[in-house]
Amino acid sequence: MAFQLHDNIQFVPGVGPKRAKLLNKLGVKTVKDLLFYFPRDYLNKISDKRIADLKINDMVSVKGRITGFDTKGNRFQKQQFRVFISDGTGYLTLMWFRPSPWLIKQFEVGKEIYILGKIQYYYSKLCMIHPDFEIVQDKEKKSFWVEQDILPLYHLTEGISNKVLRKIVRTVLSQDLFLDETLPAHIRKTKHLLPLNQALHKIHIPDSNEDIAASRKRFVFEELFFLELMLARKKVNWHKASGYSMELKKTYTTKLKKALPFTLTHAQKRVLNEIVEDMKSPHQMNRLLQGDVGSGKTIISIFAMLLAIENGFQAAIMAPTEILATQHYFSLKEFLENFGLRVELLLGGTYAGKKDIKAATESGDVNIVIGTHALIQEDVNFHKLGMIVIDEQHRFGVMQRLSLTQKAQTPDKLIMSATPIPRSLALTVYGDLDVSIIDELPPFKKEIYTNWISSDKKSQVYDFIIKQLRAGRQVYVVCPLIEESEKSIRQLADATNTYKELQNGVFKNYHVRLLHGRMSNQEKDEIMHAFKEHKIDVLVSTTVIEVGIDVPNATIMMIEHAERFGLSQLHQLRGRVGRGAHKSYCVLVAYEPISEGAMIRLNTLKETNDGFRISEVDLELRGPGEFFGTKQSGLPAFRIANIVRDRPILEDARRLAFEIIQNDYNLNDEKNIELKKKYKRFYLKRERLFSY
Ligand code: ADP
Ligand code: MG
Repeated sequence: MAFQLHDNIQFVPGVGPKRAKLLNKLGVKTVKDLLFYFPRDYLNKISDKRIADLKINDMVSVKGRITGFDTKGNRFQKQQFRVFISDGTGYLTLMWFRPSPWLIKQFEVGKEIYILGKIQYYYSKLCMIHPDFEIVQDKEKKSFWVEQDILPLYHLTEGISNKVLRKIVRTVLSQDLFLDETLPAHIRKTKHLLPLNQALHKIHIPDSNEDIAASRKRFVFEELFFLELMLARKKVNWHKASGYSMELKKTYTTKLKKALPFTLTHAQKRVLNEIVEDMKSPHQMNRLLQGDVGSGKTIISIFAMLLAIENGFQAAIMAPTEILATQHYFSLKEFLENFGLRVELLLGGTYAGKKDIKAATESGDVNIVIGTHALIQEDVNFHKLGMIVIDEQHRFGVMQRLSLTQKAQTPDKLIMSATPIPRSLALTVYGDLDVSIIDELPPFKKEIYTNWISSDKKSQVYDFIIKQLRAGRQVYVVCPLIEESEKSIRQLADATNTYKELQNGVFKNYHVRLLHGRMSNQEKDEIMHAFKEHKIDVLVSTTVIEVGIDVPNATIMMIEHAERFGLSQLHQLRGRVGRGAHKSYCVLVAYEPISEGAMIRLNTLKETNDGFRISEVDLELRGPGEFFGTKQSGLPAFRIANIVRDRPILEDARRLAFEIIQNDYNLNDEKNIELKKKYKRFYLKRERLFSY
């Protein structure tokens, strides 16, 4: 045999040092790496689609003949390269922007071509932009890939084409290198999964769509299954980890219950029970508290903290921004005013009084500390920290959670997210936590009537707003940016300008103020309080009001350039209204051009107030990586699985993983021997790293 699995890819015939370097860029260093370098898609030569039948947004393979091509624009402009295709039933345009000379060289009038891509309209013509394609080879040039019906398409780098990769992959596969099976027979049998070596072959060289589906399923299942094994072990660990046994002493907790101006909803009571049971148990709590914006999570977390305090512990809240931390601080103070407890706010930087707060935290004089990352980044020590609330957790990396936990012995942890987390993410990123869901809104929370309009109809909105102002209501106007900085976003309504326009124009008889992120905390506080006390009628702001503000008399939210915002963010913003007795409205103002995605976002908000639905749509639109808006989310990188599309497999893999770990935590059972081997090699380290 010429080469082995763990050999450098360079030694495969047809590779050599130059190509090996390029392959390294793709993460392919060894022969084995190449086998696991899966195609991103496939081009199927057998297609019964006719160009005449194609519809917009179709993702299709078609075959046609090249009837011509041209190039528009010079190299200083955005150059367009167009290729015209016909199959006798109709015409299709293929389009590339900034084409490479190498691309252009491949096309010849009269040649046949296979194409894979999405049908779009471009200047009212049917077209595919940057499609995948394969020029049909002359029949005499018989070769393996010419005769193959389905061609794999890989992620490429300059200098490595699909043709080159296919050739190398085939060379490697024809050696029949044998890889040790990583999924036990009992799992393959019950889940109908292909054996590893067969799946590897079929994923690169499928003979049918069934081959693609079957091989893909095997690898998707495997990837999700091992992740869930890890989460299952973590969860079992959490449940075993010893923690504080708290007692419901009913001193502070009952006092709060009596002081509340409302009664808890059924959902809140149920969730609070789950939390109290966790805290009473001799084990650590690791619980994710989910609920829509305004469902009343904060008050639940306050109960949990008071339970810790009545057991002689301190409690801490960590929030992602100073504004949110400050907001928590004020609402806590409001609730706990007459409780004789000391609540303190700890922010970054140096300021008067900070030293005292730190000292009082260390001595135990402070009962509740609220803060941002400053809580963990600085030398903050606790006397006896027993309960940690982490707010809006997905903005924190795993490592940051780790360090706050280290400031306590075995604290109970409650993790809250501002907007609901889609189920597929809850099962992966938070898959080791217990979950409590508040699936009911407080009775006063009203549906917010939402609509979106095109910017040229804005004057109608202003008329409506003035009616509301006359009736004594207050208004938020949200703008996406604080100032014109980059050229590309010059057209964006900028908060300062909008503010000036409104103040001197339509709202000149009302008190208008501006709030933005670059103001000092003191200034922001002052404005927020003035708004709360109705000394301000119209608050023009950037997204700093996304979280925290609670003004029941504010009944309209107008969002400028709503087409630029993310779906969850819009929902979150909208949650600032609908908090009082009056009917509330959210008007989304969109500016042309409104993309397809923006249209879906705006319509989704119009159609539903359900944050759980909205978060699912958001995840579908943006994908898991973007959903959290941060690379630090702790989201595992998947090689092949797509947790949105593959959610049924995810649920299935999770069930089985938890079942196996329940019965065989250390995977010592003979029938799980393959699992143990792979787990030890690739997951044990990650499991430890994941231990926040
Ligand atoms: P979340 O944190 O889930 O977005 P909050 O805890 O901020 O929601 O609650 C929103 C508002 O509803 C707050 O003003 C809170 O005091 C109030 N609230 C919470 N629970 C109830 C309830 N059961 N009945 C009435 N009002 C409630
Ligand atoms: Mg406990």
